[in-house]
Amino acid sequence: QSQELSQVQIDYHAALQTLLEDGTRMVCTGRMHTDRICRFESLCYSTEAEEFIYFHSNSSVMLPNLGSRRFQPALLDLSSVEDHNTQYFNFVELPAAALKFMPKPVFVPDVALIANRFNPDNLMHVFHDDLLPIYYTMQQFTDLDPETRLFFMEGWSEGVHFDLYKLLSNKQPLLREQLKTLGRLLCFTKSYVGLSKITTWYQYGFVQPQGPKANILVSGNEIRQFTKFMMQKLNVSLEESSTEEYIVVFSRTINRLILNEAELILALAQEFQMKTITVSLEEHSFSDIVRLISNASMLVSMHGAQLVMSLFLPRGATVVELFPYAINPEHYTPYKTLATLPGMDLQYIAWQNTAREDTVTYPDRPWDQGGIAHLDKAEQERIIKSTEVPRHLCCRNPEWLFRAYQDTKVDIPSLIHVIRQTVKSKPGPKKKWSGSLYPGKVRDARCQASVQGTSEARLSVSWQVPWNLKYLKVREVKYEVWIQEQGENTYMPYILSHQNHTFSENIKPFTIYLVWIRCIFNKNLLGPFADVLLCST
Ligand code: UDP
Repeated sequence: QSQELSQVQIDYHAALQTLLEDGTRMVCTGRMHTDRICRFESLCYSTEAEEFIYFHSNSSVMLPNLGSRRFQPALLDLSSVEDHNTQYFNFVELPAAALKFMPKPVFVPDVALIANRFNPDNLMHVFHDDLLPIYYTMQQFTDLDPETRLFFMEGWSEGVHFDLYKLLSNKQPLLREQLKTLGRLLCFTKSYVGLSKITTWYQYGFVQPQGPKANILVSGNEIRQFTKFMMQKLNVSLEESSTEEYIVVFSRTINRLILNEAELILALAQEFQMKTITVSLEEHSFSDIVRLISNASMLVSMHGAQLVMSLFLPRGATVVELFPYAINPEHYTPYKTLATLPGMDLQYIAWQNTAREDTVTYPDRPWDQGGIAHLDKAEQERIIKSTEVPRHLCCRNPEWLFRAYQDTKVDIPSLIHVIRQTVKSKPGPKKKWSGSLYPGKVRDARCQASVQGTSEARLSVSWQVPWNLKYLKVREVKYEVWIQEQGENTYMPYILSHQNHTFSENIKPFTIYLVWIRCIFNKNLLGPFADVLLCST
């Protein structure tokens, strides 16, 4: 990996001429600042002003052309965290003629992906906010090939996990600070700005208490494509052949400790008749952790960012998340949401310490490690007495931090009990992929009506199976039929096993009915409705 930009030779005078004549060209995807990614030619950056510059000329393009709405609140989010007001991107506009009075531009020949990392020192944030979004933004635009240069503009130093970011492309990523050493005015020949949010599953609680995102768009399949890529880059091979099953306890060594870890390990080994090992970020290399987790049957850990490593668990494995006293597992679900994404095929179990005598608190630590000594006495009393942290916003709620940084003596019988409610025999047989594919529309739907006298009628409806059925192995095929009288808001729903049915209940003569039919595979895979049938009795 090389830090120099001049790997691709460019003709400086031609590049300068193009910039002067054509100015900046921008075309974006997305309708709002929260879902926008922009492609630029000749986007520039002043390392003195620390601002991006858009140069206007007769040939420049700006789509969307938002006018002053570009500042309401910004053109786009530079990180994958939605609408965070410290992560906005915008540019300053200048006429291309102003270049005559500015420092000589230094051209960046590599195709650039320009973005912000959100919190590069926290492993959950690294994977969820940065690595997955960068990986899939690069999949979205073919220009963003393995020779892409990543530019991180958030202003942090490399951070402890920088090696992971380096895996995403063949070129050394550059940080905002380093741009100064390249020149006073940088011009990116071709660049993309912003990150796809399509893979994110969690919102951290900036505007409402934290929880799963409202509209999750990623499945375990895409997560596992990404982890496969990362494992190749880390030189970790999937040991399909290894037969030994084992449990991994992922421990924290600085805070939020498991106080009886040795006892816990013995108990797990004995209960499940499996080797049980511990890993920690402090004592193992990242590759070693990935290698161990990617073959584990069960991962047991305190709530915390290290649990994002369940990304690497094999299908069928079990995640056991331990919560300290007074922390309701239902209120903090980044790892539950991950483990239960459709197609992740992981089992998830939460255990909470409910025994006050098994917790160790640290009221005198600094506030950011959960100390509460800075609060007034009454508030300290209230927090210490409280049995559950009420729901709260991110990120400095002292009661939450106080409880989050407790150490815990795990009550072994109660933990084994909750695990046993889910894991009946041995944990984690590495199940095969059980892909869930949806039915197409039913075909050739028809209806026939018959009238019996003045008050009774029948409606016979028939249809053909969806054409994709013959290519699939489906356990159970059913049909849902809705019968709606024209002009009414309500309908009568039926679940049927055959491809025809005669309806006589509540069917009136001389009435028009709308008939909606869809196919259902395996109870919960609902297909689309076929075009509505109009049936007159
Ligand atoms: N961390 C760790 N060992 C510890 C404490 C923290 O490896 O004893 C890591 C943790 O996994 C995360 C980072 O340090 O990547 C920040 O931890 P913090 O407690 O601030 O965040 P949380 O884990 O609660 O998200």
